Amino acid sequence: MKSCDTLLRGTIITMDSERHAYLDGFVAIDKGLIVGVGSADDCDYDAKEMVGGDGHIVIPGLVNVHAHLVQGCIRGMAEGTTFEERLFGFYYPMTGACDEERSYISSMPPILDLVRRGVTTTADDHFTHVHKRSIDGVLRAVHDSGIRCRMARLILSDPENAPDGFRESLDEGLGETERVKTEWEDDFTTVTASTIGITYCTPDEFKEIWQWTVTHERQFDIHAPSVLDSRYLAERRGWDGGSFEWMDHEGLLGPNVIAAHAQTLRPSEAELIASRGASIALVPDMEQVLGLVDFDARKFLDNDVKCGIGLDGPVVAYGHDLWTALRGFLTAQRLGDQHRKEMSNKNEQWTGYETLFGSAELALELATIGGAKALQMDDRIGSLEVGKEADVVLIDRRGETHLSPPAALMPNLILGNGPSHDAISRVLVRGRTVVENGEHVSIDRRDAVRQSDALHETLLDEVDARKFVRMRSPFTWV
Ligand SMILES: [Zn+2]
Repeated sequence: MKSCDTLLRGTIITMDSERHAYLDGFVAIDKGLIVGVGSADDCDYDAKEMVGGDGHIVIPGLVNVHAHLVQGCIRGMAEGTTFEERLFGFYYPMTGACDEERSYISSMPPILDLVRRGVTTTADDHFTHVHKRSIDGVLRAVHDSGIRCRMARLILSDPENAPDGFRESLDEGLGETERVKTEWEDDFTTVTASTIGITYCTPDEFKEIWQWTVTHERQFDIHAPSVLDSRYLAERRGWDGGSFEWMDHEGLLGPNVIAAHAQTLRPSEAELIASRGASIALVPDMEQVLGLVDFDARKFLDNDVKCGIGLDGPVVAYGHDLWTALRGFLTAQRLGDQHRKEMSNKNEQWTGYETLFGSAELALELATIGGAKALQMDDRIGSLEVGKEADVVLIDRRGETHLSPPAALMPNLILGNGPSHDAISRVLVRGRTVVENGEHVSIDRRDAVRQSDALHETLLDEVDARKFVRMRSPFTWV
C-alpha cells in the first residue's frame, strides 16, 4: 500500500477527458496534489485521513467565472429600480465609498456563499477604485476564505460612462494594476488589467490595456456587448457592426479574451469568437432574472468555444449560488430555444420525438473543467486527475431526500439546485479543508452578516441612498 495525506471515497465524478464517473471510487491526495483516482477495487492507498464512503459524491471544486464581489453590501437592491437609478443612485456611490476595510466586509458574504456551496475558484472584476485599496480588501477576503481568485482590475476613463472619482488615467490604472499584482499574486491569486466594456475608455487606451494583458500573459476580461455598445459604436466610432466585430477589426479579439454575457450577438459573431479562440463567461442566472428571452449558449458550445458559468455582481445576482446558475443554464437555454422556434415562423408541429438541449452533466462540466478552461487554469484545476491540484468537493447524500434515487443523481443534483449546505461535508482547495459540514473552517458567517448589515446602513446615509430601499415594493413596511 502507498501512503497519502487524504483519501476520499464515494461516487467520483472526475471530469477527465473521457468523463469517467466511478460509482464506487476513490481520490488520493498528497501534498495538495491528486496522486490517484479510480475504482475502489483498484485503490492501493492508505491515508492519514479517510473521508466519504457509501452515499458520498466527490466532484471537482466549482469555478465561478464572473463576479463583482465588492457589491455584497448592495446585494439585491437592483430589484424595483431602473438602470439609471441603480447605477448612479447607489451602485457607484455605495461601492465607491468602500475603502479597503469596507470592501473586505462587503465582499465576505458573497465569498462565503461561493465557498460554502463548493466554489474553489472565482474570477472577479473590480472597477470601483475611488479608494485605490478597495481591491485589496476584496483580495484579502478571498485570501482569508482560502479559495483561488483571478482578479481583473478594470480601468475606466470615459467621462460619459464613468462618474467623477471612478475615472483614472491609463498610467495610473496600469501602475496600480502592477502594484496589486506585485502585492497579491501567489499560487492562488492572479491579477490582470481590463476595462468594463468597449465604451469605458478610448480605443487607444483599450488597445493599450489589451496589450498589457498580452505582454504579461494574462486574460483580458470584458463585458461584451454591454448595454451602450451599439449606440456608442455608431455615434462615436462610425461603426455599425457588433462589439466583437469591432474588437476583431482592431486586432483585439484573441485567445486571451474572456467576454462576460455575450448575448444578443450579430449573426456571425459566435463563429468569429470561436475562430479567434476567445472564451465566454455565461451568466444565465442573471440573464433570467433580467428577463432575457433568447439566451443562447449553444452557438458557442456547438462551435467549441471555451465556456464557463458565472454569477455576476450581487446587486442583481441574488444569492451567490452557482448551483442555481447551473439549473439556470439549462432552463434559460431551453426557453431560448423555444422562443427562437416560435419566432422563426416555421410552425413545426410537436411530434413527441424531441429531446431538450443539454444535460445536467453538461451543466456541471461548464462549472468545473469548462470554467477552468475559460480561465486558462485547466492545466492545474477543473478535474480530478492525477497531477492536478486537489480542489475537491465531498457531498454526503445520505440525508438528501432530493438526491434519492441515486440512479438519476446528475439531473437531481443539477435541476434540484445542488446539495444542501450541510450536505457539503468538505471543500478542499489544494488539499486544504476550507469548508467542513457546510461551515467555513475559520470565518464566522454570523459575524460576516452582522458587519455587512451595519456597513449597508452606514453607506445608505453616507451617500443618501435610503430612498432606493424597498423601492416600488407593494408591501406596507412599517
Ligand atoms: Zn458583470
